[in-house]
Amino acid sequence: MRCTFCGCFEDKVIDSRQNDDGTSIRRRRECTKCGRRFTTYEVIEMTPILVIKSNGARQPFNSNKIKAGMIKACEKRPVPAEKIDEAVSDIEKQIYNTMKMEISASEIGEMVMNKLKEMDNVAYIRFASVYRDFTDATSFTEFVATLEEKGKGGK
Ligand SMILES: [Zn+2]
Repeated sequence: MRCTFCGCFEDKVIDSRQNDDGTSIRRRRECTKCGRRFTTYEVIEMTPILVIKSNGARQPFNSNKIKAGMIKACEKRPVPAEKIDEAVSDIEKQIYNTMKMEISASEIGEMVMNKLKEMDNVAYIRFASVYRDFTDATSFTEFVATLEEKGKGGK
């Protein structure tokens, strides 16, 4: 780093401290030329991720859309708002962890469905019926059958 006092590029790190949630690091540095100290911050760069829609159009990823979709699916269901918030931030993390620049809307849809499946069956079916492309009646029937089987499994 360039010393803010003398403009020298040589320094040594004398202290590094991470913030509580581990998203940034503060480093105390000392210029090797003039001996003055200064502080730098390192933060995690959130690369904007693009969502590829089924028609090929791209749009920036927006977690509010996931949230809105989940709220709609959970309408009048006994799902607490903080459960939805938790799920949304989990999905967000999952998406960033893929390290991809682009992600398809259907992949995100799958992530949301997996979350809803754990939360509420009715919300899951509502969401799935919108997101999954049921081109023929059979696939939908099969899908519901799988759900019912799982329901019997007693979870
Ligand atoms: Zn200096």
